[in-house]
Amino acid sequence: MSIDQNSHSKSFADIILPVPIGKYFTYRVPLSLENDIQPGCRVLVPFGKRRVITGLVVHLHGSPPKKYEAKSIIDLLDELPIAEPIQFRFFEWMADYYLCSIGEVMQAAIPSGLKLSSESQIQLHPEFNIDNHDKPISENEQIVLENLSVDKTLTYTEVSDLLGKKSIHPIIKSLIQREAIIIFEQVKEKYKPKKEKRIRLKSPFDSNTDELEDLMNSLDSKEKQQAVLLRYLQKVPVLHDSNANENGILKSEITKDEELSNSSLQTLIKNDVFEEYEVIISRFDLSDKEVDDEQKLSLEQQTAFDQILKEFEDKQTVLLHGVTGSGKTAIYSELMKLALSSDRQVLFMVPEIALTTQIVQRLKKIFGNKLGVYHSRFSDNERVEVWQGVKNKAYDIIVGVRSSIFLPFDNLGLIIVDEEHDSSYKQHDPAPRYQGRDMAHILGRFHNAKVLLGSATPSTESYHHAKLGKYGLVSLMNRFGESQMPDIELVDLRDAKKKKKMKGDFSLKLLEKIEETLATGDQVIIFQNRRGYAPYLQCETCGHIPKCEHCDISLTYHQYKKEMRCHYCGYNEPLPLECDACGSRKLKTVSYGTEKLEEDLQLFLPEARVGRMDLETTRRKNSYETIINDFDSGQINILVGTQMVTKGLDFDKVGLVGVLDADRMMYFPDLRSYERTFQLLLQVSGRTGRREKMGKVMIQTSIPEHQILHWVQSHDYEKFYFSEIKERHSFLYPPFSRLINITIKNPDKLNAIQTSEAIAFALKKKYGRKGILGPQEPPVSKIRNQYLMQLIVKIDRKTTNLGKIKSDIDQTIATTLQDKNFKRSRVVIDVDPY
Ligand code: ADP
Ligand code: ZN
Ligand code: ZN
Repeated sequence: MSIDQNSHSKSFADIILPVPIGKYFTYRVPLSLENDIQPGCRVLVPFGKRRVITGLVVHLHGSPPKKYEAKSIIDLLDELPIAEPIQFRFFEWMADYYLCSIGEVMQAAIPSGLKLSSESQIQLHPEFNIDNHDKPISENEQIVLENLSVDKTLTYTEVSDLLGKKSIHPIIKSLIQREAIIIFEQVKEKYKPKKEKRIRLKSPFDSNTDELEDLMNSLDSKEKQQAVLLRYLQKVPVLHDSNANENGILKSEITKDEELSNSSLQTLIKNDVFEEYEVIISRFDLSDKEVDDEQKLSLEQQTAFDQILKEFEDKQTVLLHGVTGSGKTAIYSELMKLALSSDRQVLFMVPEIALTTQIVQRLKKIFGNKLGVYHSRFSDNERVEVWQGVKNKAYDIIVGVRSSIFLPFDNLGLIIVDEEHDSSYKQHDPAPRYQGRDMAHILGRFHNAKVLLGSATPSTESYHHAKLGKYGLVSLMNRFGESQMPDIELVDLRDAKKKKKMKGDFSLKLLEKIEETLATGDQVIIFQNRRGYAPYLQCETCGHIPKCEHCDISLTYHQYKKEMRCHYCGYNEPLPLECDACGSRKLKTVSYGTEKLEEDLQLFLPEARVGRMDLETTRRKNSYETIINDFDSGQINILVGTQMVTKGLDFDKVGLVGVLDADRMMYFPDLRSYERTFQLLLQVSGRTGRREKMGKVMIQTSIPEHQILHWVQSHDYEKFYFSEIKERHSFLYPPFSRLINITIKNPDKLNAIQTSEAIAFALKKKYGRKGILGPQEPPVSKIRNQYLMQLIVKIDRKTTNLGKIKSDIDQTIATTLQDKNFKRSRVVIDVDPY
């Protein structure tokens, strides 16, 4: 083989493209870009017949691809890299582990303001003037420009159709070069930095001279201008501090008073007395908020803290098992300070934004502007800003949900996963279907960072690893300060129903206790599990329940919008007037949901101020904050809610927690239903009695003799754990195995079944019958007009060649799908599905 002597080490680039296939794609780097291109920069490349897409450069080298002719990169989009090399390795790892493409990982990772989109769009450059150009414009360029206007954009495909040409790149390129158009990925949300206009003196006065006086004199007849100048001097102490001018003042500060006109200021700017300038400001500025650092660890916290450090000496991961209210946050912040003091970055993960509100408020007091927040409710601009803040080191600490593992850290020292047991760390759809807590470990390994998992109710897996000594284990068994664990009482619903001691879904016992609690000035939380409680409509005459046309699920009744809606596909229709099946007009709503509870409570206790926190009431961006603040300030004294109220919230005056129905959670068909029930009940109990007064919990149940409930009652995590791990062991469930969930989707039911059987057959032939469960219909067997079948592959944890097995499975599925009978089937692979 001959070596091409001329090949330059930067003539080819390996690029990640946002497509669900393959790994890297190699493109040729045009000479004009060789000097500027770097790994981590985004580029425009041709893909397929006539698409142009954005990709991310991973690697530059001198070897052309062996199997195809490399196409050329069209353009470079970034002067400086937006991503870190360490991220590429991490993304690659994830793609391998979760059996997806690195392009899919990239799609999840990068905020769409920076995104690799499958189709770029163009719009007019805001400063472009079509009548004023130095180079002649070609006819094609003219056509494109005429079809664009301030608010009209075109996709590449549209441009291509418009011109009747396949190759439009030279035209686009030329238009970009003359700054006539800009390219972007998403019309609505493309990133715009937030700017403010400021003014300052063009040349500050030297206080030892007469400059100021001279100027004042020259403005003698111009009172308004004088007034503007005086106002400036009043606000900005340039005469005392010659540096003060540098920072100037907000323009609006000067012009907001009516008597100081904007036009006088403009004249002064024109005459070079003032200059106007713009600065980019952060959307998250906090500089005026006080930073306070007054929290001394208690003796028990200090001991735990020391133990954690000791364990970190030879272990990467430590599990902090601290009961609710034991003050884990204070320990976290001490650890964070330590990491910061050795110049490392910190990632603090929380399961949901419901939780970030309070924690962020607490941490911001300590860490001020160094702390960035990253969550799914952010606008894309905000996300881009956090991304860039991490990249350019404006933030040392990020508090974020699972997707924050994707941020461009380059030197993480500590990752904390708070409420590590929480199921919201798992991403179900789309790919990568990852477990944020597990990925925190991997990310930690890449950075050589320590990982601290914290929970009052650790996941069975994590506790198992801690017991085996893989993780360090540190426990905090008491609540902080004087507070006690709450008293937990089970209310027997069978008994209450028999004796007619119920009002709606509330036992009289619980209602009395609520009243009693409110009378003492304390607050109440009522928890209703989300699963299986969506309100629906039912015909009183024939019993018919309206279902979604596209999914195998009943439609949910939305009182607020007066509509029926499918929670799986979003299909909705107005409230029907009569039954589809029998035409009867007697339709009733059946509801046990939070909305119904809220109404009932208001009816039973007219004096109470009832609030609700669930998916519906928190749809708007800041609604969490509002509800939490209303409860905190006492505006609301009963808070009814779903899972959201169970997690991490810290209120002073919650005297009672009521759990409406513990039973349905326990019998939900899921491997983790016991674990989840135990965790939820203990977590929600943990919301009460967090100060001096002892809290009270009442759990309504028809099976008060159930063991799980007794362990909850005695706050006995260990007993629960041992029973659970025994169960998992005897069925060879995780952590003794790994599960891979394979879902087959097909618009034809029979075909879905046949495909799943073919895949099952192939897999069983390879791995034996025992390791393959199914195929079976999942509980919801049709979604969006696709029929579903499911297979579960169980792989022994002791298996060492996991990677090989997984890629074999992937291969087997791909081979089966090549059969033309199954070509309409789509397969979704979910590794570690729970
Ligand atoms: P956890 O997260 O373990 O449930 P928190 O961290 O919310 O518990 O702490 C419970 C309460 O105790 C909080 O109100 C917190 O402010 C308080 N607290 C914990 N540690 C300290 C400390 N060292 N000094 C003062 N207050 C503390
Ligand atoms: Zn009917
Ligand atoms: Zn549907």
